[in-house]
Amino acid sequence: MKNLLWLQGGACGGNTLSFLNAESPDILEFFEAYSVKLLWHPSLSLESGNKVKEILNEIVNGKIHLDVLVFEGTVVLGPNGTGKYNLFAGKPMKDWVREIANIADYVVAVGDCASFGGVPASTPNPSESVGLQFRNKEFGGFLGREYRSRKGLPVINVSGCPAHPEWIMTTLSMILKGKINEDSLDEYNRLKIIYSTTTQFGCPRNIYFSYKVGLKEFGHKEGCLYFNLGCKGSFTRSPCNLILWNNQSSKTRVGTPCFGCTEFDFPTFNFFKTEKNKAELPKQLPLGVSRGSYTMLSAIARSAAPNFLLRPLVKKEEKVDWID
Ligand code: SF4
Ligand code: SF4
Repeated sequence: MKNLLWLQGGACGGNTLSFLNAESPDILEFFEAYSVKLLWHPSLSLESGNKVKEILNEIVNGKIHLDVLVFEGTVVLGPNGTGKYNLFAGKPMKDWVREIANIADYVVAVGDCASFGGVPASTPNPSESVGLQFRNKEFGGFLGREYRSRKGLPVINVSGCPAHPEWIMTTLSMILKGKINEDSLDEYNRLKIIYSTTTQFGCPRNIYFSYKVGLKEFGHKEGCLYFNLGCKGSFTRSPCNLILWNNQSSKTRVGTPCFGCTEFDFPTFNFFKTEKNKAELPKQLPLGVSRGSYTMLSAIARSAAPNFLLRPLVKKEEKVDWID
């Protein structure tokens, strides 16, 4: 039996809701298959008040061995570094986090807030929030750059706002099977098998991206959302078009730009408008592409765009109105 504890800091609870959406397996089947005992969870457990304190103290004192600590939300340090904005079971949550992280075999940060700071840590950050091991891109998080759990690993991040249930389960299952090591992780300590492709992989608008055919307004199937409408799918590492949400869709499939919610700088930019330079080209380029090659490629690609990409896929009069 493996013991798992789930705690929440400065959070909306969205990652818990996402995890509850897991379908095959669902969370109960998952816990059973991996022999997980859920020691406590803020939304799923019956214990409250002193009983929770007792469980946490037994973990800290070593009476209960902790295999996995899952943390959702930021570590709140305010006001003035005291952590008193987020008191929990008799003391600042940050103190529990420090003590429990020191004795846990593995620590997992679920969601962008726990990984990088996310929404609560955005400027002006009145709660003085930080991620567990990162503050945005830097190792400026609560536990510090050198932190290693008892099994010798840094905090394992499952970024996303929220993280997809399958990303959470895949990460936990690899941990529970003992199949995770530093080589499994990228530079932001996320599982490479989940975060090595961008949102663009599998996006049905990819062909428009390739020929630089951009949408100018929302509400159309035809066109890529990168050039004008703020899509960050070409530089956001996530498998959102490979592992679909609710097993059926993604933001870009329904015509909404990717907001870049798995990245360290989320949410500090305009979601629906592409920032451009003086030459009217997007300021942020696709991952790994240089400004020179992008400029050259765009001109060629646009002039080579096949005609069928420059007109609506279905003529207005051919459209079927499915709703009376
Ligand atoms: S930029 Fe966005 S809309 Fe365009 S292909 Fe990539 S993910 Fe799809
Ligand atoms: S499409 Fe982009 S913003 Fe939406 S969940 Fe995926 S990574 Fe996050």
